[in-house]
Amino acid sequence: MSLDRSTEDNAFADVTPEERERYLAWWRKFKMLDRASWLGVGLALGSYLLSLHYSSDDWGRLGVIGVGLFLVTRVWIRVLNCPRCGATYSGGLITVIKRFSFLDKCYGCDLSRRELAALERRGY
Ligand SMILES: [Zn+2]
Repeated sequence: MSLDRSTEDNAFADVTPEERERYLAWWRKFKMLDRASWLGVGLALGSYLLSLHYSSDDWGRLGVIGVGLFLVTRVWIRVLNCPRCGATYSGGLITVIKRFSFLDKCYGCDLSRRELAALERRGY
């Protein structure tokens, strides 16, 4: 997998320490929200599956929490502003359907998740 790593590593060649810090703080938040939303999916699915085998009201509550967590984190990710250009990273609500997709890069400046991951890996 040496596929075009260099462009990603060079994407932030001229980044200042302050900018780098801002990018990474944003990136950590993005990843945290992304994980939390998957956790929400896991909770909802898990509680549903468990409810098929063990009946208890708690599964319903857990499912609601899971779905709630998923929705909140998804909306939160959608409204994050890009750390580079300041535009709404996802492109905002207008693009929700068109770009329902994966939030791979900023709608405004094409700052990509791969670039941010590369910046984090680089470690300086
Ligand atoms: Zn941007």
